[in-house]
Amino acid sequence: MADNTDKVAENVPGPYYCDYSCIACHLCVDTAPENFKMNDDDSNAYVYKQPETDEEIELCEEALDLCPVNAIGNDG
Ligand code: SF4
Repeated sequence: MADNTDKVAENVPGPYYCDYSCIACHLCVDTAPENFKMNDDDSNAYVYKQPETDEEIELCEEALDLCPVNAIGNDG
């Protein structure tokens, strides 16, 4: 389970976030490219836009489920 006290600094405010346990595997960026990005030095992913449509929410939930280290959280 992601740790909402350890959120990556670049996350935009809102329910979805990545924490620093991210191992930079890129899976969330590939799954939900409208919402996740890698940071500049490619060391972790972050949420650059909260999902707005049902499709985006579905893909963010898929990324959350698939993240190999459970670094994605949803405080919604
Ligand atoms: S899927 Fe998880 S470990 Fe992989 S880049 Fe995204 S947050 Fe990081």
